[in-house]
Order: sequence, then structure tokens, then C-alpha cells
Amino acid sequence: MDAAAQFKRILSDRAWVRSVVAGSLLATGCGFLPAPAMTVGVTCQHGDLTLQLEQGYPGTGADGLATADDCQRALDALDGYRAEYEARFGVQALGNRPVRLRTATDLTMTTDALNKYASLNDCYLSGSPPGQCSIISGNTYADSIDLARNNLLSFPHELNHVRRGLGHSGWCIDYNPWSISVLGWDQSGYLGCSK
Ligand SMILES: [Zn+2]
Repeated sequence: MDAAAQFKRILSDRAWVRSVVAGSLLATGCGFLPAPAMTVGVTCQHGDLTLQLEQGYPGTGADGLATADDCQRALDALDGYRAEYEARFGVQALGNRPVRLRTATDLTMTTDALNKYASLNDCYLSGSPPGQCSIISGNTYADSIDLARNNLLSFPHELNHVRRGLGHSGWCIDYNPWSISVLGWDQSGYLGCSK
């Protein structure tokens, strides 16, 4: 299966690739603070991409939890997104940043006391009072990329933070048009792009 066909299959695989509820502000961020602690349930790896499913992550196991096959399936989807992203924007090294798929549907539920909100950069930079940030579906830390439950679709946005760093300056010029054409996801509202 070539990359394009694989990617189309991934997009149609709604069990793993799901956008957040329409209307909710999908906030992601970049930053270089360390990630909060997480207990790993299942791990799988391909090249320099390591995927860690948080303990308790749901899946197809008899106990209702994610299995090694579930991990591999999600990893395949992430590989597909990464291939599409890197075909346009270049290779991003991920050896020092495992992807952590969290059980929480909102990463504001995953911060520890030390990192609370300050580590969720877009939330922090927006000046939102603690507890009043929008749903955070992805965040890039110094030592991981965290994705909220079922939000693999946020992976390319986080890869762009790996490439570009903090904030979204300039993203309207290249990233958002790519997101619209390849992902079918218009982030112009969130990114503040003029129509
Ligand atoms: Zn962002």
C-alpha cells in the first residue's frame, strides 16, 4: 500500500482518528518544559517513533484495555500522518520525544502541580485563568508529545511545533493551507488566520 492509500485508510479509520467535537476550541501547544509523569501501559516503536499508551487506555483486550495490536494500529496511523507531514515540511527527529497517548480527553486533566497550565503553552499564553482553558488535545513537551484520547489527528500540529517552536507565528502561510488540503481540517479560527 503506498503512502497516499495508507493515509486515506487512516482517515477512514474513525476508531483511531477522530476530531474533537465541532465547536470546541482545539488548543495545542509547543514548549520545552518537561512533561508531567505518566504510567505507561503499552509501548510500541517504529524507527525513532515510540508510542506509549497510558496505563488504562481503552482497547480491544478482554479486559477492555489496549493491547500490543492496538498500540501498533495507532502507531501505523501516526506513521501515516508523519509521512504526509514530512513530505511537505521535512523530517523531524523524534528520538527524544515519545508520543504519549493519554486516557484523558483533555490534557488540562493531565498536568501535575509543578507544570499546571504553564506547560500547556497555548493555554498559558492565552492568559486563560487556571481551570478555564479550552480543551487541549495535544501538547509538545521537551521530552514528549502528548495527545489526548483518540486525538491522533493532532499529531501533525505537534510536529509543526517540533519544527517551529513556540507559538503559531507564520502558520497561516504554510501550515494551515496544508492542513486544509491534506487533513481536511481548517484551523484558521484557532490560528487567527484572516479569511
Ligand atoms: Zn499549537
